[in-house]
Amino acid sequence: MLKRLFGKPEIRKESEETIEELRAQRDELSTLVAGITDAILAIDLEGAPLFYNSQFAVLVGPDRLNQGRSKLLEMIRDPDIVHAYRFSIEEGKIFQLKAVAVSQKDRRKYYSLSVSPLKRPDRSVYGAVGIFHDVTELKLAEQMRIDFVANVSHELRTPLTAIKGYTDTLIADLGAGLPPEPTFLDIISRNVDRLMLLIRDLLDLSTMDSGIDHLIKEKISTEELSARMVAQMQSTFTEKNQSVEVAIGASFVLADLKRIEQVLVNLLDNASKYSPAGGVIHLGWESDGQGDVLLRIEDTGPGISAEHHDRLFERFYRVDKGRSRDTGGTGLGLAIVKHIMQRHGGAVWVQSEPSRGARFTCQFPNEIPTGA
Ligand code: ADP
Repeated sequence: MLKRLFGKPEIRKESEETIEELRAQRDELSTLVAGITDAILAIDLEGAPLFYNSQFAVLVGPDRLNQGRSKLLEMIRDPDIVHAYRFSIEEGKIFQLKAVAVSQKDRRKYYSLSVSPLKRPDRSVYGAVGIFHDVTELKLAEQMRIDFVANVSHELRTPLTAIKGYTDTLIADLGAGLPPEPTFLDIISRNVDRLMLLIRDLLDLSTMDSGIDHLIKEKISTEELSARMVAQMQSTFTEKNQSVEVAIGASFVLADLKRIEQVLVNLLDNASKYSPAGGVIHLGWESDGQGDVLLRIEDTGPGISAEHHDRLFERFYRVDKGRSRDTGGTGLGLAIVKHIMQRHGGAVWVQSEPSRGARFTCQFPNEIPTGA
C-alpha cells in the first residue's frame, strides 16, 4: 500500500522535496554548530552523551571521550560540573556556574557553564545540555589584579612599619629626656624616600594603564639624549666608580621625550645598581637594518639566569628580593620600561647569563614623523 502510495509521482516529488529541505536544514545546523566557539555537551538521563561539538572534544581531550561511549563522570570529574548537569536534569531548571577549572594536558583552563534541561513536548526531561564558555583570560586578569593589590599592600607596609617603629622609639627616648639617635632618623628618612619612589612608580604605571597620557613622539638626537642622561646620573656612576661608554650607530629615534628618558634612567640605574664597583656600562644605539632603532644597555654585573627572563618585566618581580630592597629598588622599574615600549609599539627584552652581565634591548619601531 505504502509502496503504491509513494509510487505516485506527485507524492514522490513531495517527499523528495521534504527530504531535500531536511538535509538543507541539517547542513545549516551543523555549519552553525561548527561556528560556535563555545564547547557544548548534551547528555541523556544516564549521563551518556547525546551530542558534543568539536570544541568540547578539545576541552576534555580526545582520550577521555573514549569514542563517545563514556559517561559524563568519566569525561569530566569536576564535582561542580557533574552537579550542574544532575541538578538541571532532576529539577528541570537551568543551572549556571561562573568559573569552573578544567585541567587539560599541560594547563588549566576556566569556563563559565550554563546547563539547561532538554524537554519533550509533554515537558518530561530526557537530558541536559551544557554550554562551556572559556573565561581563562578574564580569570587570569582577575588573579593578576588580586596579586597586584596584595603586592602593593605588602610593599607599602614594609617601609611604613619601619617608619612607625623608629618614630615611636624616638618619641619614647625624647620623652625620657634622651637625645635622638641619628641612625634612627637616617632609617626613617630612607624609608620615607622609598615610599615616595614607590608611590611615584605606582602612579606612573596607573596613568599609563588608564591611557590618559598621550605620547607625543618626536625626532630625538640619540647623541644629545645619551649625553644629557649620563650627565644627569653622573653622581650615581661616580659613587660606584663606574664609567659609561656611549656608541651611536643610529643618529635619531622617534619617541616621546619624557618616556624615553624614563626608559634610560630605569635601565641605566639598574645597570649601575646591580653591577660591582668599577664596572663599565655600555649604552648603544643601532639601526636593525629594517629601519627600527635599537637601544642597548649592557653591564658587567652578576647577570640573570634564563628562568627569570620571562617574568622579569612583571610588576614587583625580583630575582633577589633582599638585594633589590637594599639597593632601594621598587620592583617596578622594568614593568614601567615594558609599558613604555608597548605604548611606543615597540618591545624590550633581556639577554643574560649568570655572572656574564646583562644586556637589555629596546626596539623603537620605524615610523616617519610628518614633517620630519
Ligand atoms: P628593582 O627596583 O627591584 O630594580 P626592576 O623592575 O627594575 O626592579 O628590576 C626587577 C629585577 O630584575 C630586579 O630586582 C633585579 O633582580 C633584576 N635586574 C634588573 N636589572 C638587572 C641587571 N642589570 N642585572 C641584574 N639583575 C637585574
